[in-house]
Amino acid sequence: MQQKRIAIFGSTGSIGKQTLEVISAHPELFVAEILTAHSNDALLIEQALLFVPNIVVIGDIAKYAVVKKALEGKPIKVFAGEEALEQVAAMDCYDFMMAGIVGFAGLKPTLTAIESGKTVGLANKETLVVAGDIVMRIAQEKGVHIIPVDSEHSAIYQCLVGEQNNPIEKIILTASGGPFLGKKPNFLVNVKRDHALQHPNWSMGAKISIDSATLMNKGLEMIEAKWLFGLEPSQIKVVVHAQSIIHSMVQFEDGSIKAQMGLPDMKLPIQYAMAYPQRLANKFPRYNFDKPNLLSFDEPDLKTFRNLQVAIDAMNKGGNTPCVMNAANEIAVYAFLKNRIGFLEMTDLIERTIDKIAFISQPSLDDYFESDGEARSFAASLIQL
Ligand code: NAD
Ligand code: MG
Repeated sequence: MQQKRIAIFGSTGSIGKQTLEVISAHPELFVAEILTAHSNDALLIEQALLFVPNIVVIGDIAKYAVVKKALEGKPIKVFAGEEALEQVAAMDCYDFMMAGIVGFAGLKPTLTAIESGKTVGLANKETLVVAGDIVMRIAQEKGVHIIPVDSEHSAIYQCLVGEQNNPIEKIILTASGGPFLGKKPNFLVNVKRDHALQHPNWSMGAKISIDSATLMNKGLEMIEAKWLFGLEPSQIKVVVHAQSIIHSMVQFEDGSIKAQMGLPDMKLPIQYAMAYPQRLANKFPRYNFDKPNLLSFDEPDLKTFRNLQVAIDAMNKGGNTPCVMNAANEIAVYAFLKNRIGFLEMTDLIERTIDKIAFISQPSLDDYFESDGEARSFAASLIQL
């Protein structure tokens, strides 16, 4: 395999840091070419001094001077601001984008990378939730590979290798159930951010941790899967599998089910996407069959974790509804993280926003941006200051 030049969008996040670990473990295969961060200048500087990329971008313009000064005398170009993210995404100096920005903010740079023909490792599921039809169409037109990094979608991708001519009957997305598995609304009503951030199986950024606690994450993943694998909503099933050992499954037309398994470690799907179609040897801990293990499968509790039902309804409705839902969810999650609204109020905020914003059945990219903006303003207006 030729050395790949990697652009990590969101290098200071959970996905970004683990991508750098994979690069460190395989310097002959990968080199960090571009690193971007939103506001964590200290970590971006530390990463830049260690990996000496060609380019760094700090999203927050106010931090440009600090980053520039710290990297003075190094062969590293420093840019700042949202537009710089897009400009850099269009450059020819890299081969593979790790799309590790969180939320709607990841859409533009990821789309730019696809438009300029780069292979994308997609962690930023919101890109497909918001504008999956447009993103997949452009990827197809450009002949670009989008390789999923989300562990469930990586599992499905791995199950589909060699099955090009075999139609999928359905996919089974596994869900850990998050930290509040088995709990009821009378418990959830009092839940606070620190508890909700404690995921039993995965260590992740704050937003996806809250999404996992509300099961919105699984809803976002259903929509992500719909676009990635060209499925009808009726072909996507969610099963609660608390151990997070089976990362997801594909059922074919003969009833045979393929699963991809392993210990929960995001470095696996990250390195799979980066090295695809090759598998790289590593020393990550292995699943142990020498002791008794039970793997369980259960139905999700859609009455308690209403966000998942809201996401299923949004997926079925289509148009701009998933985009509106995503925007309202981002506002709700950040409000919850700031202790401004309660755990169960997040769903109310999302539902009221979906009811308010005008439905568009076949949105253009501009429509998606407008719907996102309108939904954010409306959702924010519902939160009492
Ligand atoms: P994180 O919060 O740890 O990191 C987010 C990164 O995005 C940071 O580098 C931050 O600087 C950058 N960022 C944030 N806001 C930005 C903005 N407005 N403009 C530009 N950059 C911005 O998040 P994470 O957990 O690494 O998740 C990243 C994405 O990957 C999310 O979409 C998440 O759903 C997805 N994902 C994460 C995991 C995981 O294990 N962490 C697993 C599956 C999927
Ligand atoms: Mg996932």
